[in-house]
Amino acid sequence: MEEILKSLNPSQREAVEHIDGAMLILAGAGSGKTKTLTTRLAYLVGEVGIDPANTLTLTFTNKAAAEMRERALKLMPTKVSYPPLLCTFHKFGLLFLKFHIEKLGRNNSFVIIDSDDKKRLLRNIAKNLKIDLNLSFIASEISKYKNSLLTPEVVIQKAELPDYKKVARIYEKYQENIIENNLVDFDDLLMLTYQILESDQELRRETSNRYRYIMVDEYQDTNELQFRLLELLASEHENLCVVGDDDQSIYGWRGANIRNILEFADNFKVCKTVKLETNYRSTEPILKAANTLIEHNSTRLGKRLVSHKGEGPDVKLLHSLDESMEAKAIAHQIKELLEKGCDPDEIAVLYRINALSRSLEEGFSKEGLNFKLIGGMRFYERAEVKDIISYFRVLANPHDDFSLLRIINKPKRGIGKASIEKLQKAAFDTHLSLYEYIRQSVEGTQPVVISKKVAAALKQLVEDINILQEEIKNNFGNFINLFEERIKLKDHYAGMVDGFDRIMNIDEFYGYFRDAVGKNPDLTLDEFLNDISLQSDQDQIEEDAITIMSIHAAKGLEFEHLFVIGMEEEFFPLLGEGCNMEEERRLGYVAITRAKSDLTLCYVDSRFYKGRRKMIDKSRFLGEAGLIQDASLKITKQAAFKKGDLVKHKIFGIGRVQAANKSGKEYKLLINFGGNKKEILSSFVQAI
Ligand code: ATP
Ligand code: MG
Repeated sequence: MEEILKSLNPSQREAVEHIDGAMLILAGAGSGKTKTLTTRLAYLVGEVGIDPANTLTLTFTNKAAAEMRERALKLMPTKVSYPPLLCTFHKFGLLFLKFHIEKLGRNNSFVIIDSDDKKRLLRNIAKNLKIDLNLSFIASEISKYKNSLLTPEVVIQKAELPDYKKVARIYEKYQENIIENNLVDFDDLLMLTYQILESDQELRRETSNRYRYIMVDEYQDTNELQFRLLELLASEHENLCVVGDDDQSIYGWRGANIRNILEFADNFKVCKTVKLETNYRSTEPILKAANTLIEHNSTRLGKRLVSHKGEGPDVKLLHSLDESMEAKAIAHQIKELLEKGCDPDEIAVLYRINALSRSLEEGFSKEGLNFKLIGGMRFYERAEVKDIISYFRVLANPHDDFSLLRIINKPKRGIGKASIEKLQKAAFDTHLSLYEYIRQSVEGTQPVVISKKVAAALKQLVEDINILQEEIKNNFGNFINLFEERIKLKDHYAGMVDGFDRIMNIDEFYGYFRDAVGKNPDLTLDEFLNDISLQSDQDQIEEDAITIMSIHAAKGLEFEHLFVIGMEEEFFPLLGEGCNMEEERRLGYVAITRAKSDLTLCYVDSRFYKGRRKMIDKSRFLGEAGLIQDASLKITKQAAFKKGDLVKHKIFGIGRVQAANKSGKEYKLLINFGGNKKEILSSFVQAI
């Protein structure tokens, strides 16, 4: 342990060795906050002798949790009897509800619904109520209500504007619906946990005494509800250690409350505050750009980071005519890095809004550059993957009407809408779940309300479900084979326009399932489903490729070589209604501080967006970060040039490069403009 402590600086060590009482570790990016947290966990267990079962470490993504767990376990000197609970807030909520949701009169076989399921429900409700409002708006309002612990009754009473009155009515129906079907949405995982702990003093004491040492990473992104939940969890001991950076608070739009960090110390009787001021991640020029930029914000606690790494290459700017040239230029640079033997895991391209990924995807594919896209349309949200998941859910719990409805006629079994409605009504009238009614009616103990043909199809479905459930009991590892054999989902999708892609996705999911069972032979179907429901943007099936993702998804990560695209007014900062310039700037700070040694900020003259091409100005952040002076461009690096490239010159027009020789930061180019050969410096032409 002494060895491990020696790898820390004095402030980090002070934080690790602090045992009882609240503590706030406040520090800038790359200063070793996460490292300090994992070391502290190892120290508490390995050195102080605290039972790992008495610790709870929370963060925001499964990937971060997995990484922290791995790091902490490596640091623990002895094999621990029980792995410490280290997970996301949502996973913690899920585990808690599995044990205690009965306190709310609900059954613990609940199903977690994701944002896509939620929208499906909302769409139906809005339709029935004849309300025409944007679904994302409704979903996010409801999410806000839940995170503020507002019940539908309160919201209905308070709503004044017509649109909000409508949302309130939808909220009421939505709650009825999810309770009826025993569903739990993401917000419920925290809200219900809070409600149970709040109302049951004995359970609160017991839970707080169980988790005697609580730690939270990325604390700046917690919202009010998460804070109040932490307060309850720490109520018996106040051993709550949080780490965060006010300059990296980027979830204000989702209700994260920066006051949580600013007022942390006021909420506890005793609170130790530790500041970390050395940055171990980035070189001096990168850090300088980040510091210079964030200093333009007025609401901050104020801290300055010193680079431990010292000097390094300048931050580069890459100027392109438009987005396709930008993608091409970046692809070329990345290929060069890869040829030099650079690890693809150390290269990433970031953007402020997901829409900007499209041109990168296109450009990189054209250039044959392998990449993985994080975020965007999540794998688990694709229709075919959701179908399999719904089947699995029905197999785990046939009374899950919500999932059954999704797959009842998929693949097509001739069970039409009218039949389904009749069955639903009959089930409702007899107080049975949809599946139970169907099962009893095909077995003859309930009246058959549908045609003979439909009844035969349902009989087949019930039989398939029974057989698959048997296989799950006896031969879980191989059940996927029987699943495909009986359900034939691939056949269903084969005939569709994009069938090939869909079948690939199905195969990928089957592969993922086999892999999960292979890694953990004790895995149950329930656990598998729970893990999937909690996958977040940062969690993706790993592959050996460079990463492209949004800045939000890059939080907490680091890369040797980093490109940030769309450094233009409108895109970054993202202007428009509700723009929060300080939060935009914090995003800029997060983006820049992901880079270890090599950072390139990219901007274009025009971008195609929402159906039209638009001329745009470069981002004010480039000036604020001290990278350009006013309008006069200081281009420190241009796209690489090589023989055969097409380039454009303001006067001579388009020509082809015949020879390219590096000359300082630039290239001396010999260009053939339609037979007219000229020697020109690269800063005078643009690659096309
Ligand atoms: P972020 O704010 O981006 O989440 P962070 O403060 O959590 O950053 P870490 O990810 O813990 O920072 O650390 C950044 C990098 O610095 C890591 O590569 C880590 O291993 C390294 N590091 C941290 N502390 C030290 C130290 N005392 N000596 C050497 N390297 C360190
Ligand atoms: Mg961190």
